[in-house]
Amino acid sequence: MTANTPRSVLVAGSANLDFVVRAAHAPAPGETVLGRELATYPGGKGANQALACARAGGAPTRMLLALGEDAHAEPIERSLREGGVRLHLRRVRERATGSAFVCVADDGENAIVVAPGANAALRGDDLPALDGVAWLLLQLESPLDAVAAWAQRARAAGVAVALNAAPAQALPAALLEQIDLLIVNEGELAALTGLADLDAALAAVRAPRVVVTLGARGCLARADGARLRQHGFAVAAVDTTAAGDTFCGVLVAALAQGHGFETALRRACAASALACTRPGAQTSIPSHAEVEALLHTAADPDFAGGTSVPTPSGQIPAI
Ligand code: ADP
Repeated sequence: MTANTPRSVLVAGSANLDFVVRAAHAPAPGETVLGRELATYPGGKGANQALACARAGGAPTRMLLALGEDAHAEPIERSLREGGVRLHLRRVRERATGSAFVCVADDGENAIVVAPGANAALRGDDLPALDGVAWLLLQLESPLDAVAAWAQRARAAGVAVALNAAPAQALPAALLEQIDLLIVNEGELAALTGLADLDAALAAVRAPRVVVTLGARGCLARADGARLRQHGFAVAAVDTTAAGDTFCGVLVAALAQGHGFETALRRACAASALACTRPGAQTSIPSHAEVEALLHTAADPDFAGGTSVPTPSGQIPAI
C-alpha cells in the first residue's frame, strides 16, 4: 500500500432514530408486553456501520444518507458528525426521518420494526464521487435498485464493495455479482441460500469472500477458497443491538487500512463484543482505543482474569 492508496470507506444506507423499550421478553405475535422506560438512540444499519467504521475502526469515513426535516433528524446528524463521519446528506421534505421500534429483552436479545421514511427516498444517482474511497459498504435498508446501482458504480470505479445482506431478503444475481465481501448472520445466510446447514450454506454463496457472524461464538468466513474461524470474545452482554453493525464497520475499516483478512476478522469480533456490553445502537460502539486495549489483552498470554477474558487467545485456526 503506497501513500496514495485510497484508505477511506464510503457507507451508503439508512439512518434511523431508535425508540427502545426494555422488557422481560420480546412480545410473541398477538401478545402485549409491559416494558420499562423508553429511551431514544441514533441508529439505522447504515449510520451504525459508518460510526463503527470511524470511531471503532479508525478509518476516514463518509456516509450517504437521507433524513426528514423533523426533530428526529438532529440527534442522528450530531452522533455521526461527533463520531467523525463526513456526511453526504439528502434532506427529504415529504417524508419523516426513519424510525425503529426496538424491544430489548432482559437476556440481551432484541426484536425490531423499522419505518424507513426518508431512507426510502435514496436513489442510485445519489452516490457521491468516489475519490480516495477504498471500500463501499452497503446494507439492505435502502431501496434494492439503489443498492444495486451503487455497487455497480463502485465496481466500475475500482472500489471494493462490501454488502451486509440485512435485513434478510432475496438478492438479484446482478447485485451479488458486484460484491467482493458479503457479511451475514446465521439467519440471513439461511434465508439467502435456503440451506440450514452452515457449511453447505457458506459454500453455496458465490461472493469471493463471505463472513457469517455467529453471535457470542464469533464468526466463520470463506475467503478465496480458505475457511477461517474467529472465536468470540467473552463479555457480559447486556444489549446486542448494533453488534452486527459494529462488526461490519470495523471489518471494512480494517480492510481499507490494509490489514489482512484474518486480522480484520479479529478486530471486528473484539469491537462487536464490546458493543454488547452497553445499551443502545451508536451509543454502544466502542472507541478505537478500547478495541486496541481488548486486542492487546487478548494477545497477552499472562492475562489471568476479569470480565473480558478473550476465548481462546483470539487465534484463527483454519477449519
Ligand atoms: P447480528 O447482531 O447481526 O444478529 P450476531 O449476533 O452474529 O449478529 O453478532 C455479530 C458479532 O457480534 C458476532 O460475530 C460477535 O463477534 C459479536 N457478538 C454478538 N453477541 C455477542 C456476545 N454475546 N458476546 C460476545 N460477542 C458477541
